[in-house]
Amino acid sequence: MIIWKEIDTVLFDMDGTLLDLHFDNYFWHEYLPQKWGEQNNMDLKAAQDALMPGFYKWAGTLSWYCLDHWSDHLGMDILKLKEDIGHLIKERPGSLNLLQYITSIKKRMALVTNAHAGLIAMKFNATRIGDYFDDVYCSHDFGFPKEDVQFWEALQEAYPFEPQRTVLIDDNTNVLHSADRYGIKHLLSIAQPDLSRPIRSENDFPMIESFEELMNEK
Ligand SMILES: [Mg+2]
Repeated sequence: MIIWKEIDTVLFDMDGTLLDLHFDNYFWHEYLPQKWGEQNNMDLKAAQDALMPGFYKWAGTLSWYCLDHWSDHLGMDILKLKEDIGHLIKERPGSLNLLQYITSIKKRMALVTNAHAGLIAMKFNATRIGDYFDDVYCSHDFGFPKEDVQFWEALQEAYPFEPQRTVLIDDNTNVLHSADRYGIKHLLSIAQPDLSRPIRSENDFPMIESFEELMNEK
């Protein structure tokens, strides 16, 4: 899938790429509605129905990824609630092997994420992916989500890279499209971001089923 001699820089997404998206999906679809429902005298279904339109309204914006936005909007400490289910934070299979491999073939690596700083810290604490990244870029620091081409322009300023010799691995199709518009040449998606859900059958970008596919000396 990748000819490594054509690559200098690897940009990794975090949630749904290196980490199992089940933690996040379970949080937004089950745990948060349950807790918010308890606070507002609603059962789970009523709470889910009440929250969904707001989720759709903000999807893909910086606000959607901002814990303070949701804490203010819902009147709950979102980071604290996420800690309740912290045991669900885990690497996807092969993540650490792939990071080790890319380190061994001496490519530059950066983590590029829409996740809020508090959440990055929580996930680095709960897993070992942080051991591999000196360079972590968070969309909240740039003021644009990765879905916006301006994110990649800001990243270029902070962490210069050659778009033709860069690969982005990200489970979010809208993010891959914005990276494509910016000019990043090598774009890979993830077949099963959430290990509790089925493998995706189609995508606009090539999908990695196993990180083993990337561990070849070419
Ligand atoms: Mg992701």
